[in-house]
Amino acid sequence: MRKVAIIGAGASGLMCAIHAVSSTVQVVLFDKNSFSGKKILVTGNGRCNYWNSNQDLKFYHSSDSYLLSDIITPRIQKEVLAFFESIGVVPNIRDGYYYPYSNQASSIRDLLENKAKELGVIFAFQTEVLDTFKENNQFVVCTNDGREYFDDLVIATGSKASPKTGSTGDGYTFAEKFGHTIVPVRPSLVQLVTDGKFLKDWAGVRSQATVSLYEDGKFLDQETGEVQLTDYGVSGICIFNLSHYISFDKKYTLKICFLPFLDKSSVISFFHKRNEDLGDVSLTYFLEGILPFKLLQVILKRVGVSHHATFSSLSSSKQEELISMIMEFPVTVLGTKGFDSCQVCSGGVCLSEVSLTLESKLVPHLYFIGEVLDVDGNCGGYNLGFAFMSGIIVGKVLRGDKNDSNSSNKD
Ligand SMILES: Cc1cc2nc3c(=O)[nH]c(=O)nc-3n(C[C@H](O)[C@H](O)[C@H](O)COP(=O)(O)OP(=O)(O)OC[C@H]3O[C@@H](n4cnc5c(N)ncnc54)[C@H](O)[C@@H]3O)c2cc1C
Repeated sequence: MRKVAIIGAGASGLMCAIHAVSSTVQVVLFDKNSFSGKKILVTGNGRCNYWNSNQDLKFYHSSDSYLLSDIITPRIQKEVLAFFESIGVVPNIRDGYYYPYSNQASSIRDLLENKAKELGVIFAFQTEVLDTFKENNQFVVCTNDGREYFDDLVIATGSKASPKTGSTGDGYTFAEKFGHTIVPVRPSLVQLVTDGKFLKDWAGVRSQATVSLYEDGKFLDQETGEVQLTDYGVSGICIFNLSHYISFDKKYTLKICFLPFLDKSSVISFFHKRNEDLGDVSLTYFLEGILPFKLLQVILKRVGVSHHATFSSLSSSKQEELISMIMEFPVTVLGTKGFDSCQVCSGGVCLSEVSLTLESKLVPHLYFIGEVLDVDGNCGGYNLGFAFMSGIIVGKVLRGDKNDSNSSNKD
């Protein structure tokens, strides 16, 4: 009987265990928590957005992103969906975002754990792996409960995101001990902390916007969606998706366009027409109905014009300044809300140091799956998606499915 240890009973570890266990492969799933999938329970605001139908690779990020097309193949994508159907998950699909029809993340967690138990996976809960190393061609797994020997080891410990769920970055330490390189780990899908004396004045506003991100003055990317303006900076899905660019050593600025469906010249004509239609009304009146009240007050203050002034009383340069402030509101990014608040981490075990079956190129029979690897995705089900895909890839290799080297994953 081959013995496999999986460290981490999260999304990737559960999926891997289910696909690895067989009459000839014994699987022990270690987790420091007293139950499996603690992080799954908090995903998608408790509803678990477990997949996205648009698996375009542009939604995934890695320092070795050129390798992703051989891992995230159409075949493995189909297998994830077929698997969830096979365990009884009925999807509720909104704009390509998959949720369980129950709208409860616990459904996904429970069905995965039940399947693993039914197949005979051995759970070692409240068992923290403190150290692991290779001795005489076997892996020694040292826990608070003693030590055990295994033929194969899968590191599925997640990242450092949201450490209260159990992922505290231990997998990086284990990987480094085995000689692996860790691409610097930083918070991603996270709120951005910005400068600005106005923050307390706009706190609580939600607005549709296009947010452009600049690194040292150079345009990087932009996202459109609802932005939440807060007393520390900005939040919302489009901010989360931009946050994966933020590293500690560069200067970042955002330009927020609060009228995202118009270009600047249309806004100029629109404002002049509005001025004709409304007559000489105060700027507060003029802008209300277009922008949230708290936000327009902040904008007027920043431009330095009284809210009693009228649009036509402003000099043309002040009119232009006002329009620019609405279309390109500048904020300096000071940092992120950090590991406690982020949903995932960018960085992790270097992808070029594992094979297409996610086996270490340095240590045979050592595998990495899920977020511990240097792969992260946008909001929308991509991170659980990668955890599930990588879990299936390694699980099937461990079970001995000869067809599942990733070259055959491509059909
Ligand atoms: C608030 C929040 C919302 C999210 N929403 C979504 C969403 O809707 N859709 C989406 O796709 N993604 C979402 N994510 C991201 C997604 O949850 C993760 O990417 C995914 O769970 C990673 O799976 P994993 O198996 O790699 O790691 P994890 O799920 O983090 O599991 C790792 C496990 O390893 C255990 N462990 C760690 N170290 C040890 C050790 N030394 N000994 C024993 N056990 C150990 C931990 O206790 C943990 O249970 C969200 C994340 C958060 C925090």
